[in-house]
Amino acid sequence: MPPTPEDALSLFDVAGDAPALLRPAPRSSDRLQPTFLAVFRELKPRTPLPPMEIAFYPFAHLNHTIRLRQGRVLVRLSDLLQSAPEPVMEALAQILLRKLYRHPIPEVYNARYRRFIGQRAIVAKVQLIRQIRGRKPQAVARGRHFDLEALFEDLNQRFFQGWMARPNLGWAAAVARRNLGHYDPAHNTILISRVFDTAALPRFVLEYVLYHEMLHLRFPVTQRGSRRCVHSAEFRREERRFPRWAEAEAALKRL
Ligand SMILES: [Zn+2]
Repeated sequence: MPPTPEDALSLFDVAGDAPALLRPAPRSSDRLQPTFLAVFRELKPRTPLPPMEIAFYPFAHLNHTIRLRQGRVLVRLSDLLQSAPEPVMEALAQILLRKLYRHPIPEVYNARYRRFIGQRAIVAKVQLIRQIRGRKPQAVARGRHFDLEALFEDLNQRFFQGWMARPNLGWAAAVARRNLGHYDPAHNTILISRVFDTAALPRFVLEYVLYHEMLHLRFPVTQRGSRRCVHSAEFRREERRFPRWAEAEAALKRL
């Protein structure tokens, strides 16, 4: 049950700023108001300036949206452009507002925007973001026989004084024996193999598998020199606190 080598920790190695990208929040972008208003003025000189809401948004792809709602112009820009220079933002404002009001888009703006997003650093970020945010929604925690959230809360009280913040929990298709359980730190998700979602196996075996994955939250992987330590001595000690540890281990070996 160790996290597989390709577990999402590698994402943290790809780019130092990955953790910040994991929990992005929509960010207002008042600094862009003048840019968008100036473009609007250029396109529609006789129309009163409409109220505009412009925000950066954590899309899974390099997307931007613009719409008109009850007289307000609503703009959502990919947060990948948060550090884009002003001329690029101006080109984007031209492109979006011209699309909204069906004006032709001069090639100079398209070219300027494309040049920016074609930069190697931006392309790499777009790929990383797609990996992180583009996943399909996780399987739900409630299985046919067991509810992982209820099990988690019970174990949380019994072994962690209830302090452990609940990660995402889901049932996963059983692919391989070593994938009975898995904790993915990049998505803060524990996946448990569906082979345990059955009345045929005793509940404590499933509890033990979930407990093991919860210990991965408690004891994050450490690096000793070039070696990654996934199951430290401390981890193994805690694991043996499980009351029917030997029985559970034996049951897993039989699977
Ligand atoms: Zn493990």
